[in-house]
Amino acid sequence: MALFYGQPCPLCGVKMTDDDRRFATSHFLGPESDLWRFSDAVMHWDCYATWEHRARFGRMYFEAKRAWSGHNSYWGVAHSDDQVLVTANPDKLVGEVDVMLAGTGSGFRIPLADWEEWLEGEWFETCRHEIEREALGAVLPLLRSKLPTADAIIATAGLEGQDESPIAAAGGMVARVSHEFACQKLAERAVTKGVACPGCSRFSTDYEFVRVEQVSESGPQSHLVCRGCGKEFGPADV
Ligand SMILES: [Zn+2]
Ligand SMILES: [Zn+2]
Repeated sequence: MALFYGQPCPLCGVKMTDDDRRFATSHFLGPESDLWRFSDAVMHWDCYATWEHRARFGRMYFEAKRAWSGHNSYWGVAHSDDQVLVTANPDKLVGEVDVMLAGTGSGFRIPLADWEEWLEGEWFETCRHEIEREALGAVLPLLRSKLPTADAIIATAGLEGQDESPIAAAGGMVARVSHEFACQKLAERAVTKGVACPGCSRFSTDYEFVRVEQVSESGPQSHLVCRGCGKEFGPADV
């Protein structure tokens, strides 16, 4: 994915800021395409939405993602047609659904644990522009009927029975860094939505986040501590 470091938007020429909603793609077009300089670039969402080539560019990005989706051993395909692509990674260090829309060339990452709430109504707030609300609104009935739950996604994608995290099992720094990202997300989830403690089973927001500043291959790792029972745990335990 293209990196954002305060460069100007290629569509309007104005420098982008952290507050701007931004649209970005990975590198997916070669120099033979008239739009290749917009591939692997970051732009204002609002500029992208009204760009004359947006529909064609978005469609090409969607088709590229669809073509890649069959070749990723971590992410399984739960649904793929010419309007929407749904992939999922049940690894406890990831635990996310990716929904990609042909109508906009943009996508959403939703924690598997939030999938049902997202389908129910949260999707509306996660849209960054009216064109996303339209494109997503058009495929929601299909998603709700074919993939109503996180379990349905995992079963449809053929990803059942993954008890141990493949990323954690592979070990090394990748596992360590993945743990840190996942633990950060778990800590945010614990204070906003609450989680069930793997020690005492109590569902609450009452946790302390013990964060390790220096990630290393064998040193301590970040974790949460339940203020009810004192249990220390991480993303692989919930
Ligand atoms: Zn712009
Ligand atoms: Zn507890």
